[in-house]
Amino acid sequence: MSEHFEREEGFIPKYILEELAEKGDEDAKRTLAGMQELAMKEDQVKKKNIESQAGNNTLEANASVYPKRGVYDSQGTGELQHKLARQEGDPPNSDQVVNLSYDFCGKTLEYFKLMLNRNSIDGNGMDVISNVHFRKDYNNAVWLPSQNQLALGDGDGKRFINLGRSIDVVAHEMAHGVTEYVNHLDYTRQSGALNEHFSDVIGTAVQQYVKGQTAQTADWLIGDEIVGSEFRGKALRSMKEPGTAYFGDRQVAHFSKYMDIPLSDDGGGVHYFSGIPNKAFFLAAMQLGTDPATLLWYTALHDRGTIRRDAKFVDLLKALLIAAEKLIRQGELPQSAISVVTSAFSEVGILLPVHA
Ligand SMILES: [Zn+2]
Repeated sequence: MSEHFEREEGFIPKYILEELAEKGDEDAKRTLAGMQELAMKEDQVKKKNIESQAGNNTLEANASVYPKRGVYDSQGTGELQHKLARQEGDPPNSDQVVNLSYDFCGKTLEYFKLMLNRNSIDGNGMDVISNVHFRKDYNNAVWLPSQNQLALGDGDGKRFINLGRSIDVVAHEMAHGVTEYVNHLDYTRQSGALNEHFSDVIGTAVQQYVKGQTAQTADWLIGDEIVGSEFRGKALRSMKEPGTAYFGDRQVAHFSKYMDIPLSDDGGGVHYFSGIPNKAFFLAAMQLGTDPATLLWYTALHDRGTIRRDAKFVDLLKALLIAAEKLIRQGELPQSAISVVTSAFSEVGILLPVHA
């Protein structure tokens, strides 16, 4: 397996597209080829950036810089910033997909600012560039860390539709950008599942915020707005009941089902095993509310002493308990938050090690 896919590769996991391609789906095959090409370009730029930017990564919030949005129309090509369609302050465009992308990037930025006190993806007011109508019938949406840009396909109209028209897709991908800046979680095995998990947390939180839902009224589905009539299921993932979103859904919801599998298989199962912390988040949000739970998770992921690049699920639990104590002291969370988190994780089989 090449190292190209050992990281975030798009909203729709590669193994789902591979299954479709094996059944002769030409759109899935084309999307996979496009993903490979993007990944190779990413690697080239990333190598250059690592050399030039080492040690130059600030997390300081700069309140005086306001992020501006730019939406570009790729017009079915694989080019980024192909044709500027709408930028910050412009009136609505005649293309609804352009307007939705503009609005969804804006709502996600608003959520970061209001709920997490984060100024854009880099914490420093970075502009948000999205590219819609990326490639032709492209069955994916991706955050490109080397370019700091979103690329959103239209889907083939059969299995997948409207990738640029779904708020949880946009928020999920922008959250991958945040993870790049906050802790660089390796996109393999448990750390990769935590990377995916955090994007699902932000995806669902922003969707609930925009739709005016609560933990109790939300459906907790990820990608439910982008599956088409020929997709055999209701969504790509369920945070409430991992493993039930579609026919053949491989997500698991309990740590007893975790195993180290080859990295060639979904980066060691980053999308399969993200179901475990996803379920714990759902359980905690039902008690604390989605926004307080999201603030708690976000705060925990900044604990660089505990959440290292290769962090495991139990490290998230440790970081959450430290973050909960801090937020309780600040009056942002109730005293019960510690026991809520502990029991949510124990329900999915993750316990703190007992010292003799
Ligand atoms: Zn993702």
